[in-house]
Amino acid sequence: MSEAVAETVAARFGELYGAEPHGVWAAPGRVNLIGEHTDYNDGFVMPFALPHIAVAAVSRREDGVLRLHSADVEGGVAELRLDDLSPESDKNWTAYPAGVVWALREAGHAVSGADIHLSSTVPSGAGLSSSAALEVVVALALNDLFSLGLRGWQLARLCQRAENVYVGAPVGIMDQTASACCEAGHALFLDTRDLSQKQIPFDLAAEGLRLLVVDTQVKHSHSEGEYGKRRAGCEKGAALLGVNALRDVPYGDLDAALSRLGDEEEVRRLVRHIVTENERVERVVSLLESGDDTRAIAPILVEGHASLRDDFRISCPELDLVVDTALASGALGARMTGGGFGGSAIVLTEETDVDAITKAVTEAFAAAGFTTPRVFEAVPSAGARRLR
Ligand code: ADP
Ligand code: MG
Repeated sequence: MSEAVAETVAARFGELYGAEPHGVWAAPGRVNLIGEHTDYNDGFVMPFALPHIAVAAVSRREDGVLRLHSADVEGGVAELRLDDLSPESDKNWTAYPAGVVWALREAGHAVSGADIHLSSTVPSGAGLSSSAALEVVVALALNDLFSLGLRGWQLARLCQRAENVYVGAPVGIMDQTASACCEAGHALFLDTRDLSQKQIPFDLAAEGLRLLVVDTQVKHSHSEGEYGKRRAGCEKGAALLGVNALRDVPYGDLDAALSRLGDEEEVRRLVRHIVTENERVERVVSLLESGDDTRAIAPILVEGHASLRDDFRISCPELDLVVDTALASGALGARMTGGGFGGSAIVLTEETDVDAITKAVTEAFAAAGFTTPRVFEAVPSAGARRLR
């Protein structure tokens, strides 16, 4: 399948730029199984890659010019001069790939220009990391074409810098690392403090299980206020508790930490979410590693959703409706996933209940007057790679 996709994207590159591309690369979107908003608190996350990918056909140039085109947005080829790239100068989609080139050059890597054509099947703004897929596919292509020798986690760091500084979105390191480093059939247990990673086998089909993604079609935007406010609140909590990051508050010390925060009610809630969420990731990892029934993780997903809804306060009526309806229709577990305020939820279910749950969620959305959600099955897929 990816051969055919590579062929199509390469052919379009030829039409746009008048030559064959030097290569074609792919990088996936992701869903996060557990570990939400922990990544900018030096904590734990556990994403896996989706089969949905951003594909880039790319040729190198030597003349300091960067040309960018996306099949998925209106408009022609954007032409930029590398020497003119500067953070937050660009508010278009081109900021994502241009930001990666900027970050590579800032870090001293000799990138002298490129022609890039992109095409992506990762839904945009659905909490499935279309932005990271775009960044990582460009970073991987340039890493190969300019023989930079960077590893996946190093590319992820540069992509995060591009998104933080050049795009201006204060995101953590999870999405880029997931896109760069995930492996098919596995979830990625990532310690965001040092980027140490462990691939955890996650084969739901073998146990008669399915993981559904329900895209509520409510668009979120990370660069706007609320995400930054949560981040600032977590930093305030760490400062009040005298730790580098909330990761450093042990689960066993949570009650003591909360009482030390006195009447800082909002900070208390944020701290409680982060500390309990890190513990939930550790519980999920140990359950999956024990080789026991994967169904055992389901209640932890539900706890995670309650914490995001009540303590971190980043759910929304559509996400809550997915979770409540799915659980009422026989799902084993469900939670919102990604940054929140819209985007997607995940539902862990018996294979035999997929149709009933899909129907119930779709009907509940219609009854509530919400836009029809998009439901699909998430199979843990490969991370970023060269297609040709
Ligand atoms: P998410 O990463 O959850 O999908 P973001 O807001 O972080 O949401 O990123 C979405 C943005 O990424 C879009 O608004 C657009 O600027 C850019 N983007 C995503 N996919 C594409 C694409 N195929 N072509 C061009 N730009 C894209
Ligand atoms: Mg994003």
